[in-house]
Amino acid sequence: MATIKKLNIPGFEEVVFCQDDSAGLKAIIAIHDTTLGPAVGGTRMLPYETDLEALADVLRLSRAMTYKAAASSMDFGGGKAVIVGNAKKAKSEMLFRAFGKFIQSLDGRFLTGEDVGTSSDDFQIVGRETKYVIYPPENLEPKWEPSFLTAFGVLRGIQASVMDVYGSDSLAGKKVAIQGVGKVGDQLVRLLHAEGAKLTIADLDHSRLSEIGAELGATVVAPREIYQVEADVFSPCALGGILDDEVIPRLRCKIVAGGANNQLVDERHAEELWKRGILYAPDYVINAGGLISALYEMGICDRETVIRKTAEIYDRLGVIFDTSRSAMISTQAAADRMAEERIRQAKRDRTTNK
Ligand code: NAD
Repeated sequence: MATIKKLNIPGFEEVVFCQDDSAGLKAIIAIHDTTLGPAVGGTRMLPYETDLEALADVLRLSRAMTYKAAASSMDFGGGKAVIVGNAKKAKSEMLFRAFGKFIQSLDGRFLTGEDVGTSSDDFQIVGRETKYVIYPPENLEPKWEPSFLTAFGVLRGIQASVMDVYGSDSLAGKKVAIQGVGKVGDQLVRLLHAEGAKLTIADLDHSRLSEIGAELGATVVAPREIYQVEADVFSPCALGGILDDEVIPRLRCKIVAGGANNQLVDERHAEELWKRGILYAPDYVINAGGLISALYEMGICDRETVIRKTAEIYDRLGVIFDTSRSAMISTQAAADRMAEERIRQAKRDRTTNK
């Protein structure tokens, strides 16, 4: 039997716990804020050990989506979904159809697509039960995949950061240490290589690492060593939750700028980086290319517009770095300020137009 239970979480518009035992589905959908438009966010499938762990993840990620959309001038709100399960073993048509019915029951307040552990094929199935899904058109050229646009946006963000620190955005000869060469990291290292950067890479997957290392002449280091590599830029492109009290003092870089979501363990770690003179490109600003690509997938923008909007990450970070300096606040606080101001303004406009 399918059951949906509302959870009352302060600060979130709607959080629902969805269960369908016959389909083997347990999921949580969080809608954080829809002031700017319908909530958009991917659906993760991970083997969370407890429901509380899944809930903490979906709340954190959905809030970050609100900020990402707002800071990127997009008319979307923030949401996220998590499916509790092992993506390698527990996927089935029944499970994704059951999930689609829950998405449909939210009447378009939440639009979702692939994320860690899910693929566009899964969302073709979800799409049989709901129109509120986002997935790339079939036969999409690789350069239009969300991960490519994410990587391209991260490249632009790294250039903006290098400009801020060195007064020129050339990456020729700049040392960049990349953690994780998966979908985003792999494409990022190729873009950086083309710009003449000197690369150091680490990944838990050794086979792909040595292949990429040999192909691009990148130095390969063990996963734990990547933090203390002497570099101009450290680029986290693996999982989130890495910048903490243990890792920050080990960093030997001038800039942290990468594609991973939720890199800071706590907001105070942004202050810590700032105090140490390490320029941090806020993750939800620099990695917005994947979200921007949804505009193309939804038929709202053409490809050229999506590329242009992704390239604007460079200018947006420039404004954030300037605000951080003039207001003497961390770059994360400056980005939050920019996103919150846009949401406040939309609320004011709505009240005025009533
Ligand atoms: P992915 O799963 O394809 O790649 C992640 C890579 O990181 C894998 O190769 C994995 O082996 C490696 N890894 C994991 N833990 C590691 C560790 N401790 N040290 C070194 N390597 C490690 O994922 P992806 O799509 O490339 O996404 C990477 C990050 O970017 C995630 O945080 C994701 O949320 C974020 N992101 C992705 C997109 C997108 O379009 N794919 C958009 C925005 C944000």
